[in-house]
Amino acid sequence: MQDNRDIASAQSTVNEILREDRSLYSTQFALGFRSLHFIPDLEKGFRQFYLENNPAQLRRVIPFAIFLTLIFGLADYFRLSEEVFSAVALPRLVQVLSLCLLALPVYLNYTRWLEAAVMAALILYGASTPIMLGLISQGDYYTPIGTQLIILAFCYFLAGLRFFHAALTGAVISIAYPMSQLLFPYPLPNLGFNCFIIVAFNMLGLVGAYFLEYTSRENFLSRQLLSEMALFDSLTGLLNRRAFALDLEKTCSQAKRDGVHLAVAMADVDRFKDYNDYYGHVQGDQCLRSVATALQGSIRRPLDKAGRYGGEEFILVWYNCSAKDAERLGEEARQAVEDLQLRQGPGARQRSITVSIGIASSERGDDFDSSSLIRAADRALYLAKDAGRNQVVIADTHPA
Ligand code: GH3
Ligand code: MG
Ligand code: MG
Repeated sequence: MQDNRDIASAQSTVNEILREDRSLYSTQFALGFRSLHFIPDLEKGFRQFYLENNPAQLRRVIPFAIFLTLIFGLADYFRLSEEVFSAVALPRLVQVLSLCLLALPVYLNYTRWLEAAVMAALILYGASTPIMLGLISQGDYYTPIGTQLIILAFCYFLAGLRFFHAALTGAVISIAYPMSQLLFPYPLPNLGFNCFIIVAFNMLGLVGAYFLEYTSRENFLSRQLLSEMALFDSLTGLLNRRAFALDLEKTCSQAKRDGVHLAVAMADVDRFKDYNDYYGHVQGDQCLRSVATALQGSIRRPLDKAGRYGGEEFILVWYNCSAKDAERLGEEARQAVEDLQLRQGPGARQRSITVSIGIASSERGDDFDSSSLIRAADRALYLAKDAGRNQVVIADTHPA
């Protein structure tokens, strides 16, 4: 009985950690996406990613499609009578124009119109082709079904359409094939068999298009998850130590170029060990999240950043901020944490969770860099701890 309770409580702890630590991307991985749909927040990002990557593929494929169309035209010039060749001139022209329509958004970077243009171009190309084949066959020449299959292959595998659009386009092109025969007194030879082959090809294309989109979604999630893991701390969502350090270096150079001051603050949770010992690590983690959110309240401008420096240590940078303003912001951040009123357990050396903050400002030294600012802020933090905790100390001098 006791064992069962232990297992249940361990399981609920694990669930809690998973629930809290998961990013949207890993949540989506856990939910799955077999229906080729993400939760709305991610779906928008995926479409953007998809549209940004698709033109590169189309750029390689369009010249090839134009080349093939011209080769077919040239072959027709040599093999068809002048009368039949001029009869097919119009559908052939439609084919070339539809490829130009496809090229427009691809080469001019109109990503918003890309999917619609690809579908329209393929439908135009795919519907004009059986008309052309019909005209050729009326002139008693051989009309290969392969042409229609190449267009379907293009639509399913090369044009980079998402599954639903590929399926819709493929279906319209396939229906256009038998329908176009209504225009002619004699239907194409083997029409029924050819229709069967086209339907079978459509089925194959559907499966291919499904897996292409599925893989592309998987790629999107993996890439986003990787870059999220590389930049952000999974517990608090703040920048991780490495990302913060890289960012701070850039911000330092920017501040020097702009001739403005920079302030760096190190914050450390007071007596956090007591909290952890009494409430346990899971609630300790929840406490760190709340502290991170409270500290982040002082980050308001685009170049201001907050990061998690280590266990219960946080780091903040305020851009174009004098020592005096930094002291005010630091006090604001300290107060925000105190206002959370996270009670320490009985017997702890403090009543509630607070932070000590050490601040270094570039105002006190002309030549500053990220590591000297961090070192100075760290020293000021220890002075704040020594002076009794729950306070803000500004570094006196700025060491080189
Ligand atoms: P001080 O006021 O001197 O900073 O005291 P303190 O107890 O906060 O400092 P100490 O360095 O002794 O303890 C820090 C504690 O923070 C110990 C460690 O278990 C806890 N800690 C560090 N990282 C995490 C974390 O990610 N989650 C949780 N729950 N606890 C953490
Ligand atoms: Mg510490
Ligand atoms: Mg501490």
